[in-house]
Amino acid sequence: MQQVTCIECPMGCTIEVETENGVAVSVKGNGCPRGKAYAESEVTCPVRVVTSVVRTQEGRMVPVKTSKPIRKSEIFAVMEKINATHPRLPLSIGDVLVRGIEGDADLIVTGHAKA
Ligand code: SF4
Repeated sequence: MQQVTCIECPMGCTIEVETENGVAVSVKGNGCPRGKAYAESEVTCPVRVVTSVVRTQEGRMVPVKTSKPIRKSEIFAVMEKINATHPRLPLSIGDVLVRGIEGDADLIVTGHAKA
Protein backbone atom coordinates (compact mmCIF):
# COMPACT_ATOMS: atom_id res chain seq x y z
CA MET A 1 0.00 0.00 0.00
CA GLN A 2 1.28 3.46 -0.90
CA GLN A 3 0.16 6.77 0.55
CA VAL A 4 -0.21 9.75 -1.77
CA THR A 5 -1.01 13.35 -0.84
CA CYS A 6 -3.30 14.73 -3.49
CA ILE A 7 -2.15 18.10 -4.89
CA GLU A 8 -5.15 18.66 -7.16
CA CYS A 9 -6.81 21.09 -4.72
CA PRO A 10 -6.03 22.74 -1.34
CA MET A 11 -7.80 19.94 0.62
CA GLY A 12 -4.65 17.79 0.30
CA CYS A 13 -6.40 14.45 0.91
CA THR A 14 -4.21 11.55 1.99
CA ILE A 15 -5.01 8.72 -0.39
CA GLU A 16 -4.08 5.06 0.05
CA VAL A 17 -3.44 3.08 -3.10
CA GLU A 18 -2.90 -0.65 -3.40
CA THR A 19 -1.17 -1.91 -6.53
CA GLU A 20 -0.70 -5.30 -8.09
CA ASN A 21 1.83 -5.73 -10.88
CA GLY A 22 2.10 -1.98 -11.30
CA VAL A 23 -1.66 -1.46 -11.59
CA ALA A 24 -3.78 0.37 -8.99
CA VAL A 25 -6.39 -2.09 -7.71
CA SER A 26 -7.76 -0.15 -4.72
CA VAL A 27 -7.94 3.59 -3.96
CA LYS A 28 -9.21 4.90 -0.58
CA GLY A 29 -9.32 8.31 1.08
CA ASN A 30 -9.86 10.47 -2.00
CA GLY A 31 -12.44 13.18 -1.52
CA CYS A 32 -13.45 13.21 -5.17
CA PRO A 33 -12.86 11.44 -8.51
CA ARG A 34 -10.00 13.79 -9.43
CA GLY A 35 -8.06 12.48 -6.46
CA LYS A 36 -8.58 8.87 -7.55
CA ALA A 37 -7.20 9.64 -11.02
CA TYR A 38 -4.29 11.61 -9.52
CA ALA A 39 -3.37 8.85 -7.06
CA GLU A 40 -3.55 6.14 -9.72
CA SER A 41 -1.28 8.18 -11.98
CA GLU A 42 1.09 9.01 -9.13
CA VAL A 43 1.81 5.37 -8.26
CA THR A 44 1.94 4.06 -11.84
CA CYS A 45 3.31 6.91 -14.01
CA PRO A 46 3.76 10.16 -12.06
CA VAL A 47 3.70 13.35 -14.15
CA ARG A 48 4.34 17.04 -13.53
CA VAL A 49 4.11 20.31 -15.40
CA VAL A 50 7.65 21.74 -15.42
CA THR A 51 8.00 25.49 -14.84
CA SER A 52 11.30 27.31 -15.24
CA VAL A 53 12.95 30.27 -16.94
CA VAL A 54 15.14 30.57 -20.04
CA ARG A 55 17.81 33.18 -20.72
CA THR A 56 17.31 34.95 -24.02
CA GLN A 57 20.17 35.81 -26.34
CA GLU A 58 19.80 39.39 -25.09
CA GLY A 59 20.40 38.22 -21.49
CA ARG A 60 16.81 38.64 -20.26
CA MET A 61 15.00 35.93 -18.25
CA VAL A 62 11.67 34.62 -19.57
CA PRO A 63 9.31 32.32 -17.61
CA VAL A 64 8.34 29.09 -19.38
CA LYS A 65 6.48 25.86 -18.71
CA THR A 66 5.63 22.62 -20.43
CA SER A 67 2.26 22.75 -22.16
CA LYS A 68 1.27 19.43 -20.54
CA PRO A 69 2.42 17.35 -17.58
CA ILE A 70 5.45 15.21 -18.42
CA ARG A 71 6.69 11.99 -16.85
CA LYS A 72 8.69 12.69 -13.69
CA SER A 73 11.42 10.39 -14.96
CA GLU A 74 12.00 12.82 -17.86
CA ILE A 75 12.23 16.03 -15.82
CA PHE A 76 16.05 16.05 -15.65
CA ALA A 77 16.38 15.60 -19.43
CA VAL A 78 13.76 18.30 -20.02
CA MET A 79 15.58 20.71 -17.69
CA GLU A 80 18.77 20.18 -19.69
CA LYS A 81 16.88 21.12 -22.87
CA ILE A 82 15.36 24.16 -21.14
CA ASN A 83 18.78 25.30 -19.92
CA ALA A 84 20.13 24.98 -23.49
CA THR A 85 17.28 27.09 -24.92
CA HIS A 86 18.22 30.73 -25.62
CA PRO A 87 15.54 32.34 -27.80
CA ARG A 88 15.69 35.81 -29.30
CA LEU A 89 13.35 38.62 -28.22
CA PRO A 90 10.65 39.66 -28.85
CA LEU A 91 8.59 36.87 -27.31
CA SER A 92 4.88 36.72 -26.47
CA ILE A 93 2.99 34.68 -23.89
CA GLY A 94 2.02 31.38 -25.51
CA ASP A 95 4.93 31.29 -27.97
CA VAL A 96 6.26 27.76 -28.48
CA LEU A 97 10.01 27.69 -27.85
CA VAL A 98 10.59 23.92 -28.19
CA ARG A 99 7.97 21.82 -29.95
CA GLY A 100 7.78 18.29 -28.51
CA ILE A 101 10.23 18.92 -25.67
CA GLU A 102 8.93 15.62 -24.21
CA GLY A 103 6.41 13.52 -26.04
CA ASP A 104 3.67 15.82 -27.31
CA ALA A 105 4.36 18.49 -24.67
CA ASP A 106 5.84 21.76 -25.92
CA LEU A 107 7.86 24.38 -24.04
CA ILE A 108 5.87 27.62 -24.03
CA VAL A 109 6.39 31.18 -22.82
CA THR A 110 4.28 32.09 -19.76
CA GLY A 111 5.34 35.64 -18.98
CA HIS A 112 7.24 38.74 -20.04
CA ALA A 113 11.03 39.06 -20.22
CA LYS A 114 12.70 40.45 -17.11
CA ALA A 115 16.20 41.84 -16.67
S1 SF4 B 1 -9.05 14.03 -3.67
FE1 SF4 B 1 -10.34 15.68 -4.48
S2 SF4 B 1 -10.90 16.85 -2.64
FE2 SF4 B 1 -9.12 15.60 -2.08
S3 SF4 B 1 -7.32 16.91 -2.46
FE3 SF4 B 1 -7.68 15.67 -4.30
S4 SF4 B 1 -8.92 17.00 -5.63
FE4 SF4 B 1 -9.06 17.81 -3.55
